[in-house]
Amino acid sequence: MASSNPVAEAPNIWAVAQAQFDAAAEQLDLDPGLRRVLRVPQRELTVNFPVTMDDGHVEVFTGYRIQHNVSRGPAKGGIRYHQDVTRDEVRALSMWMTWKCAVVNIPYGGGKGGVIVDPKKLSMRELEGLTRRFTTEISPLIGPDRDIPAPDVNTNAQVMAWMMDTFSMHRGYTIPGVVTGKPIAIGGSLGRNEATARGAVYTLHQASRTLDIPLAGARVSIQGYGNAGSIAADLLADEGAVIVAVSDSSGGIYNTKGLDPARVSAWKAEHGTVVGFPGADSVSNTEILELDCEILVPAALENQITAQNAPRIQARIVAEAANGPTTPEADQILYDRGVFVIPDILCNAGGVTVSYFEWVQDMQSFFWTESRINESLHEIMDRAFESVHAMSERHSVHMRTAAYMVAVARVAEATTLRGLYP
Ligand code: NAD
Repeated sequence: MASSNPVAEAPNIWAVAQAQFDAAAEQLDLDPGLRRVLRVPQRELTVNFPVTMDDGHVEVFTGYRIQHNVSRGPAKGGIRYHQDVTRDEVRALSMWMTWKCAVVNIPYGGGKGGVIVDPKKLSMRELEGLTRRFTTEISPLIGPDRDIPAPDVNTNAQVMAWMMDTFSMHRGYTIPGVVTGKPIAIGGSLGRNEATARGAVYTLHQASRTLDIPLAGARVSIQGYGNAGSIAADLLADEGAVIVAVSDSSGGIYNTKGLDPARVSAWKAEHGTVVGFPGADSVSNTEILELDCEILVPAALENQITAQNAPRIQARIVAEAANGPTTPEADQILYDRGVFVIPDILCNAGGVTVSYFEWVQDMQSFFWTESRINESLHEIMDRAFESVHAMSERHSVHMRTAAYMVAVARVAEATTLRGLYP
């Protein structure tokens, strides 16, 4: 089946992020001055930096680190390596991080970074060189008390290890708390790798209770089979859900009887894609969103559910493991159609929550057991879901606006209490 990508026709996600904020600010009747402050990022750094490639020629890459708001604590947010990274995308992602940290009530502001690069075209040595030089370029902004990067699309624990080492080399001693999502051997946290998916599954538990749709037996379609998507597939299969479809950037696979996530992951590890998995039909990345299922988990990129395809979404619950997969027009269409959306800033906040635990452990040089981590995560995700759902019921707004209202109110309170300097 043909594959087309709706991102091309989709709106600018920075405009989307601002529109989502505006809707919450309106509902909260937020002071106009505060609106002007929270509507834009506080700091934006653009860096153009050279990397010597394996054949000896020098390439210049462009990257960004943006801090949206640091009223509640140091900026926190991932680093993305992707050929389509733009400054507006990083702005939107940094703003979403501010709200995400506030919605789960952890003491961080929001930040994000990105480099315009297709890392799949780099050798390991080139990737390390790019990472070390990018870290050096953004080092005026980052630090365990100022701004703490983490993995995002196409970055992983190894990239975080290089970032931590580079930053530490500059200072002359080891500073594990400068990034999270590190390997366990150098100050990473147990449970971090699974945290985003685990947190999403905790919110799905709550949604399934609210809507009376048991997870056991629920049919699940997952777009994106990376860290968030593949582990969500595993955890949901453990709950008895039937994973009917999964996809990655090359396309998707579909089997109404269910796919075994362990076997799909093994296939992907061997072939680099889920495509071609034996015993499954192929499905495109747009079709996967519209399949007959109870739960849809977008776990790839932004702007996947738009005004064009929202009327055709058949799932009863959309659990946004990805950041920004749904446009505001689509949100309204889904809400009117009775589709329950667990918004990104709530659904995928498990990742940043366990990043917070990692940072706390690094600062204390005292490491927790995995069961303590998962219990604390569960407690935080449940509390966040309950406060957002209660807000949604109280004001008759969809879960996204409710999540924004909870988050924006917390950030607004912190900003107001601190006052305007000077
Ligand atoms: P990842 O790089 O591990 O996986 C991304 C997956 O999406 C890959 O399988 C890739 O092939 C697929 N993909 C890329 N383009 C696609 C397309 N056009 N259509 C379908 N699939 C496509 O990244 P990840 O860490 O799993 O992140 C996925 C999403 O989750 C992103 O939106 C990210 O911001 C969000 N997120 C991740 C974390 C985390 O801790 N990993 C935390 C919060 C949010």
